[in-house]
Amino acid sequence: MDFIDQEIEAYSLKHSQPETELLKKINRETHAKVLMPRMLSGHLQGNVLSMFSKMIQPKQILEIGTYTGYSAICLVQGLQPGGKLHTIDINEELEKMVRVYIDEAGMTDKINYYIGNALTIIPTINETFDIIFIDADKKNYSRYYDLVFDKVSSGGYIIADNVLWSGKVLDAPDKMDAETKAMDEFNKKINSDNRVENMLLPVRDGLMIARKK
Ligand code: SAH
Ligand code: CA
Repeated sequence: MDFIDQEIEAYSLKHSQPETELLKKINRETHAKVLMPRMLSGHLQGNVLSMFSKMIQPKQILEIGTYTGYSAICLVQGLQPGGKLHTIDINEELEKMVRVYIDEAGMTDKINYYIGNALTIIPTINETFDIIFIDADKKNYSRYYDLVFDKVSSGGYIIADNVLWSGKVLDAPDKMDAETKAMDEFNKKINSDNRVENMLLPVRDGLMIARKK
């Protein structure tokens, strides 16, 4: 489902900084070689993430759900000198490909890439994060949120992707499938959490942005 009119999106992209050669390559190769290439953030959302990162100037970033590394390479752009992006993915089949991209981006020193289940890896990373990007399995969003909350700096951001779930969050509650229900419950939970200020940004598949007070 396209939330933004296609011509408007094309015009917006035409008047935004272009996708870098490396991001274009990741996009192309993901579509050619990897299952479910729709999961890749893409040019519009990638620009949003890199611009957010440049605005926030984080020291530490945590990404849950690396996939082929597109969003990681966008998020890393605003990192302060000496800062790190930690990114976790359970799919070890993508490891080789992702390591090559991180290397080509010249980000080997700035990115810690973990292979495994985020639920077990997150508690082992002893850092305070200024940005957390939640983009792994949808049914665990709420658990990820609870797991990371104490690791977010005051004034730090938790950003969760795909919270509109192709518009299925509008389905009647008794018609929702399990993933849609999880997403709708997640959105309601964030919206009623008075420890954060939040907004749902209807870009691409929906980004929930929560700022810890
Ligand atoms: N952030 C990427 C897309 C991520 S797609 C981008 O925007 O380009 C979602 C990823 O979450 C998949 O690669 C999948 O392997 C991973 N994932 C699913 N369950 C996970 C888990 N329990 N722990 C870590 N990663 C998981
Ligand atoms: Ca996503």
